[in-house]
Amino acid sequence: MAAVDETGTNATTTGGPAPLDLRSIAQAPKALLHDHLDGGLRPSTVVELAADCGYDGLPAADADSLGRWFRDAADSGSLELYLETFAHTVAVMQTAEGLQRVARECAEDLAADGVIYAEVRYAPEQHLEKGLTLDEVVQHTLEGFRQGESAARAAGKQIRVGCLLTAMRHAARSREIAELAVRYRDQGVVGFDIAGKEAGFPPSRHLDAFEYMRANNAHFTIHAGEAFGLPSIHEAIAFCGTDRLGHGVRIVDDIHTGDDGTPQLGRLAAYVRDKRIPLELCPSSNVQTGAVASIAEHPFDVLARLRFRVTVNTDNRLMSDTSMSREMKALVDAFGYGWSDLERFTINALKSSFLPFDERLALIDDVVKPGYAVLLG
Ligand SMILES: [Zn+2]
Repeated sequence: MAAVDETGTNATTTGGPAPLDLRSIAQAPKALLHDHLDGGLRPSTVVELAADCGYDGLPAADADSLGRWFRDAADSGSLELYLETFAHTVAVMQTAEGLQRVARECAEDLAADGVIYAEVRYAPEQHLEKGLTLDEVVQHTLEGFRQGESAARAAGKQIRVGCLLTAMRHAARSREIAELAVRYRDQGVVGFDIAGKEAGFPPSRHLDAFEYMRANNAHFTIHAGEAFGLPSIHEAIAFCGTDRLGHGVRIVDDIHTGDDGTPQLGRLAAYVRDKRIPLELCPSSNVQTGAVASIAEHPFDVLARLRFRVTVNTDNRLMSDTSMSREMKALVDAFGYGWSDLERFTINALKSSFLPFDERLALIDDVVKPGYAVLLG
């Protein structure tokens, strides 16, 4: 799939393609559809906000050891420890100041990494512990994103952040959160999502929320097919009508090798590909949670070669100690992708975004294509 002449290493002297290293990939315009606000804080910000709001539950006192703790806890294979990591980040995101700062820094960090469009999600119902209302949580977060976009612009970087409001699948507030998403659709909320434990909490428990979104011509994605397999993906599409699949990586379970050695798609996999249903794939996160053994064994490449609508995503930058550039570099190292592949994944993401169609096209034609043309030399 990769063109070998795209990996030249002396681009600066020959005018050929830029080297496919982390630095050049960070220069490339990138689009991100699946990133959790409470999974992307700077460790130093967690320490400072904890001191400000009187939260004394942190497992480490300084930013460096706390950053290490987050990564190790998420790597440990223990679900309890993995969930504990979010208890600490959510604990410092309960005030106007905390929410605004975390959202602002999220936009700045993504912009510094060359992300030009991001859809960042979080669950407003998890930020009510200190008395904020759902509306206030959304308002403060949107304000933070706008501040971050301005700060990035001042630093010479362009980014646009759209917000997805998530409802927790074990809870019973999904209709209320869907209404919140529609209420703020003209202020920067671009869609709705459900997240949380898949097993035992099928997406069809939240049908009224999805029906409400559809009735209002509004967009949504569903975390499905991460750890739990095909039934979850089927429900999300057939019963809930999802626009995209959060992860969706287990769709590979419906692809088999035929007698002649070629891949044979089952009916569900064929439907997902035929309908161009976007897969929000998150390579490092899938390895960390054990959904996939290693990046090299990740179904990303199989799905990309079969021309599913694959997109590259970070999921939780803090817990996975990652960035969009690092996720792309990991895929380049594992599968030998070239710049034209990274461009295709980026265009896939923008085509699949919840922005209005004309705005997607403008980003693809005015930012992405010229940006990769420079890198291709
Ligand atoms: Zn996720």
